[in-house]
Amino acid sequence: MIEGRAEDICRVERNIQLAPYTTWKIGGVADIACFPETEQELAQLLEIYPGAEIIGAGSNLLIRDSGIRGAVIILSQGLKQIALQENGDIVAEAGISCSRFAGFCSDNNLSGAEFLAGIPGTIGGALVMNAGAFGGEIWNIATAATVIERNGKRKNIDRGQLQIKYRKVDGFGNGVVIAGTFKLEQGVKTGTQEEIKKLIEQRKDKQPLDKCSCGSVFKNPVGSFAAKLIEEVGMKGFAIGDAQVSPKHANFIVNNGSASAEQIEEVMEKVIEKVRQSTGVELEPEVKIIGEKG
Ligand SMILES: Cc1cc2nc3c(=O)[nH]c(=O)nc-3n(C[C@H](O)[C@H](O)[C@H](O)COP(=O)(O)OP(=O)(O)OC[C@H]3O[C@@H](n4cnc5c(N)ncnc54)[C@H](O)[C@@H]3O)c2cc1C
Repeated sequence: MIEGRAEDICRVERNIQLAPYTTWKIGGVADIACFPETEQELAQLLEIYPGAEIIGAGSNLLIRDSGIRGAVIILSQGLKQIALQENGDIVAEAGISCSRFAGFCSDNNLSGAEFLAGIPGTIGGALVMNAGAFGGEIWNIATAATVIERNGKRKNIDRGQLQIKYRKVDGFGNGVVIAGTFKLEQGVKTGTQEEIKKLIEQRKDKQPLDKCSCGSVFKNPVGSFAAKLIEEVGMKGFAIGDAQVSPKHANFIVNNGSASAEQIEEVMEKVIEKVRQSTGVELEPEVKIIGEKG
């Protein structure tokens, strides 16, 4: 690894607290955090730090309290190009927020992306997670992704080359998604705007959006809902320190102020254990956990 060169490429912070870069507002210090603005900068960074952790908007990420030794590359501050192609496709870079993407589609009278409006992640993170809501999933509207592999090779991957599952996509290896291509239906601007407003209102009703969280912590088991199971076994409201199973939505664990990653993980473990003991169902985390334990 060649130290020092990253600063010649883009903004770099050393010994930086990662909590502000996650929606849980939790996470220890990273040795090095790089903020590429372009695909070229990202490719150069990967040459120096091929093993770097990738962070989008940190909205599905628990970073442990002792942080990350080595480098992280934070994509939410750059790669923000979005364009409507002549053939009607949209190409969006990884750092575009899902909300901006939904707004761009609506502005261009394209429908089908409204469900993305309330998802607080980046397009890159959404493509990797197969983010979805209200019956929609990003890979229903995405046709391809462009990836930079850890060896620096850039490649296009069509939807057919991927195994697309519930909140999981196999086929990217550990490549970094730099852009997605999307095909949407012709729509009517006012209709898509109304739909976006309606879906955001539904979120406000059901989700604790006034608290820091990572959205749904667990995947829904086949044929059931994680929130329902957690509520039924009496874990709604359960807390360790400031880490609490939301009294509003049992599949959210909220940070009531100064929760640590360790406390969030403890709450997750207790919830998994209680649901297993009471129902036999094994809950699987949807959130990704990275970093060193405290
Ligand atoms: C209030 C709230 C509501 C939410 N509602 C929903 C919802 O309705 N539906 C839903 O699906 N999710 C929801 N989420 C979770 C989250 O927003 C999504 O999973 C989102 O897609 C994550 O994107 P991100 O950019 O934040 O990714 P991050 O959390 O930063 O990263 C998630 C994972 O993807 C990897 N990653 C990120 N970007 C890239 C990239 N460009 N290339 C390669 N790997 C990458 C990271 O390394 C990590 O493993 C919600 C979260 C919150 C806080």
